[in-house]
Amino acid sequence: MIVTITEQAPLATTDALLAAAVAAGLEARVMTDGHGGTLIGVDGALPADLLTLPGVGTVLERHKPYMLASREGRPHAPTVVKLGDVRIGGGRPVMMAGPCVVEGRDELLAVAHAAKAAGADVLRGGAFKPRTSPYAFQGLGEEGLKHLAAARAATGLPIVTEVMEPDQVDLVAGYADMLQVGARNMANFPLLRRVGAAGRPVLLKRGFSATVDEWLMSAEYIMAGGNPNVVLCERGIRGFDPALRFTLDLAAVPLAKELTHLPVIVDPSHGTGKRSLVARMALAGLAAGADGLIVEIHPDPDRARCDAAQTITPAEFASITRSARALHAALLAAGADDAEPATATRVPLTA
Ligand code: PEP
Ligand code: MN
Repeated sequence: MIVTITEQAPLATTDALLAAAVAAGLEARVMTDGHGGTLIGVDGALPADLLTLPGVGTVLERHKPYMLASREGRPHAPTVVKLGDVRIGGGRPVMMAGPCVVEGRDELLAVAHAAKAAGADVLRGGAFKPRTSPYAFQGLGEEGLKHLAAARAATGLPIVTEVMEPDQVDLVAGYADMLQVGARNMANFPLLRRVGAAGRPVLLKRGFSATVDEWLMSAEYIMAGGNPNVVLCERGIRGFDPALRFTLDLAAVPLAKELTHLPVIVDPSHGTGKRSLVARMALAGLAAGADGLIVEIHPDPDRARCDAAQTITPAEFASITRSARALHAALLAAGADDAEPATATRVPLTA
């Protein structure tokens, strides 16, 4: 059951509903909607007489199993996830860029400055890497995190970096502005629970064999742990055709945005595995409604220590950024908001 609580509701109403849920042995979670309202998700049904208490708004008895991530009962979408001054969701597309893996301090500082100059809002870079081969470079670990922190200090860019294990969450959260849960860990439920309690926004990549519903249930794990700041990332799924590394499932972007209030971004680097396709698919992702992009860049892509084939130069990324801004402005001017589901009031877009 999803119960919305109005802004003017007495606190006693929320307390009574939560107490009733506990008494009935039901899981219940409280979340604000970021616009003054509150929402209570209950995994079960509350007694009808409680639902007439002052301040109870809409009551949804049937809804998606991901009751916190669902767009149902949340008229304001997308949710805005903040990384310092950077706002992800419903506004100007957020541009994340950086190397696949942090290679060294000087290398990272150089690419971080280049990323910033090219229009990046957020710096990416892996310190702990999930590599298919156990013999491949696994990342610099904590040393890489220190380099990321140095790059943030030098450029002001917030950093997003991957965490792979529950026991690493506190360490990574000590350095990162945003925790990335990679495709291979999307269904690592102990990890999802830990990032749910870590107090940092989370970038949740879609597993390459995961359905959209499974992806949203993974977001629900994080939110149920008390963390409302989840950003979804479509990064390609496995199809039948080996022509590309993955198949970027762009229809999943507007679909996810119909189903959830969470922001959705697109990764055209892993989504194609092929550098010459990155720019086009980046723009296609934005046209599909993505709230931002995450792109792998390197000053000398052929020499990138990881994922070289899909890595582009900072100059190419700058060109994507320029096109992204122009595309966003054009979509705004064309009233693309009208394409949003009629039941939802989209947070007004800003230039
Ligand atoms: C990455 O972003 O570096 C990465 C490993 O991505 P994914 O988990 O989508 O493969
Ligand atoms: Mn990579």
